[in-house]
Amino acid sequence: MHVFVLKGDFELLDAYVPRLFELGARGLEEKPGEVWAYFPERVELPLPGRWRELPDEDWLEAWKRDLKPVVAGPFVVLAPWHDWTSPERRIVLEPGMAFGTGHHATTRMALEALAGENPAGKRVLDVGTGSGILAIAAALLGAEALGVDTDASVVPVARENARRNGVAPEFRVGSVEAAEPPYDVVVANLYAELHAELAPAYARLLAPGGRAHLTGVLTGRAPRVRRALADAGLRPAGERREGEWALLSFER
Ligand code: SAM
Repeated sequence: MHVFVLKGDFELLDAYVPRLFELGARGLEEKPGEVWAYFPERVELPLPGRWRELPDEDWLEAWKRDLKPVVAGPFVVLAPWHDWTSPERRIVLEPGMAFGTGHHATTRMALEALAGENPAGKRVLDVGTGSGILAIAAALLGAEALGVDTDASVVPVARENARRNGVAPEFRVGSVEAAEPPYDVVVANLYAELHAELAPAYARLLAPGGRAHLTGVLTGRAPRVRRALADAGLRPAGERREGEWALLSFER
């Protein structure tokens, strides 16, 4: 087992979390003064840390055992072995396969923003679908949803997660070019620089009056996203914050 060890704690290293998952991490664990990122193989990492080898014990099982259900808006995100009796809408995901278990603030804010759209009957695009969680949530709320991801390996995971939840949103490998406008709602959990780059595409994909909810944005980088979206002709339509993370909403 390959572990990349970073100095700090979850709070300090939160900004690296999406990047670690994008680069193939399968799980993160906080240890005293360190965060351990578990990888199936060694990869080139543009982050400060060191590699460590561990015997092939069942770290994934141990990590899964400690995972708690997460409530976000009208949803609770559960692993298949969790029991849950409260009335939230259940999203059951096999954890550890792709980013998007609801344990990250950005995913939770995106779920809340999505639910606030009352998406029944609307066309929803989820850019950077990962585990498929946002497209699945949209479909559970009655939307016609499409999830796209440039990482081909997550698309079968997202499809399997959707099947597990009794819905069938569409998933495609690719990015904004793989989607056909118009969309009533675009939701995307990426990062600030990418949102800025994709701003004209968001504007092109949205129907008049449609809204984009963009997260994965560190609060310090929010101005850059706001500027790019304004340049693309979209109006600000609210913001959410959790810790150092922001979700920015825009309307066409
Ligand atoms: N949507 C899930 C959530 O909210 O938890 C997963 C978000 S995860 C932080 C970002 C995902 O975006 C990754 O699965 C990554 O492969 C994908 N991604 C990165 N760049 C992308 C791009 N240009 N277009 C589409 N997807 C991209």
